[in-house]
Amino acid sequence: MSLELTNRGLLREQAYINGQWIMAKSGKTFAVTNPANGDQLATVPDMDDTDTRAAIEAAEAAWPAWRSTPAKERAGILRKWFDLLMANQEDLARLMTAEQGKPLAESRGEVGYGASFIEWFAEEAKRAYGDVIPGHAKDKRIVVIKQPVGVVAAITPWNFPIAMITRKVAPALAAGCPVVVKPAEDTPLSALAITALAEEAGVPPGLINIVTCSKPNAVAVGGELTGNPIVRKVSFTGSTPVGKLLMRQASESVKKVSLELGGNAPFIVFDDADLDAAVAGLMASKYRNTGQTCVCANRVYVQAGVYDAFTEKLKAAVSKMVVGPGLEGETQQGPLINDAALNKVKRHIEDATSKGAKVALGGQPHALGGTFFQPTILTHATQDMLIAREETFGPVAPLFRFETDDEAISMANDSEFGLSAYFYSRDIHRVWRVAEELESGMIGVNEGIISTEVAPFGGVKESGLGREGSHYGLDEYMELKYLCLGGM
Ligand code: ADP
Repeated sequence: MSLELTNRGLLREQAYINGQWIMAKSGKTFAVTNPANGDQLATVPDMDDTDTRAAIEAAEAAWPAWRSTPAKERAGILRKWFDLLMANQEDLARLMTAEQGKPLAESRGEVGYGASFIEWFAEEAKRAYGDVIPGHAKDKRIVVIKQPVGVVAAITPWNFPIAMITRKVAPALAAGCPVVVKPAEDTPLSALAITALAEEAGVPPGLINIVTCSKPNAVAVGGELTGNPIVRKVSFTGSTPVGKLLMRQASESVKKVSLELGGNAPFIVFDDADLDAAVAGLMASKYRNTGQTCVCANRVYVQAGVYDAFTEKLKAAVSKMVVGPGLEGETQQGPLINDAALNKVKRHIEDATSKGAKVALGGQPHALGGTFFQPTILTHATQDMLIAREETFGPVAPLFRFETDDEAISMANDSEFGLSAYFYSRDIHRVWRVAEELESGMIGVNEGIISTEVAPFGGVKESGLGREGSHYGLDEYMELKYLCLGGM
């Protein structure tokens, strides 16, 4: 392949189970391609339930030694892994852009963001404190300790090929748990590259296992990961239908489940907002990763008094965006991940325009062809359009008009999703009230970018269960154990 890497050892075409780089037992492989030009980058093993079982058993075998390793030692290994990711930031970014499509600057940012979870949980590993509770009787003492939950299964998406893995693997390892990861079929190379660095950092065999598989085999691999009684925790990031399926499957053996599912983020611009700041926030929230993040603004509600002024400012900013292959110079927006993504964007625009929306900018596939799409703005959007109900996952900003605060809040909450929400206002009373009333797990107030390893990431309603990152993130991989000491 033509992709240039300084550290060629990062390009792996084998899966990683029990500290071994291996092929699928069936010998099958599948191709990984570059969404910017369709070129084949590599092939990786197309594993199934048999390979997955071997990975789960390797993880279980590795668990006792790891959980009894002092947290300080576990932290030291994680810290080395973090340093190696940062030392290889440029190569990892190039590999990510090649298989995922996002502009190189965004990939560099994601390597840093992904690595930050390893650094954070390396520190948190040492702080899994328990509790001493005043006893309920004279001769009793109550103590609560935290212990690792056991073998973790992680299933991750393609839109953040490194960060969605480290956000699960780092807290699991920090807590003392081994992990079996099934990365997305579009982006397994980033997963394998960071695993090569984990090996170099000294993560013992069996603790991180990477089971690569194609979309058709995801059903069998996911079935094993959620069905095998050895697995005690399933952590999934991806679409809501698959999340619901995995939750149902995991219920058979009552596993702990964390889900980070779809969003449909409202972005509200009130009439007292700093409009330039709101435009900058929307640009960052909406068009990042070609609109393919679960916290991307999906519905933009603009108060009537500033609707026209905001539309003009947004148009001026969006029309300057540079679309192109992510590996090339000044690109600000790369291609969509695949044809299905392109078709969804087209469908949402067609549906909206058939119901009265007007295309203020873009609206068409880009002249570059393939899955490139023009950055788009729609005006006159209404709640009956598909774009108001479903996550678009593309570079389309539909602008809805509202009159009162209550109307904005009620339209924003009119969704089964509740991951992130954003609003711009300079009135402290309004800020507090709206922040309390929006039904979502995360809120950007006068801010379009909210993700950081130090804060709890996660949603309410059908956007998911549990939180990732922050000091809360470690608890997802631990069980509480209560000790009652009698006869004291
Ligand atoms: P997207 O639409 O973003 O691709 P998916 O939910 O389909 O979202 O994919 C997220 C992850 O879930 C990927 O790793 C994918 O392979 C995996 N996946 C998809 N279907 C299943 C399934 N039936 N069982 C287990 N994993 C699945």
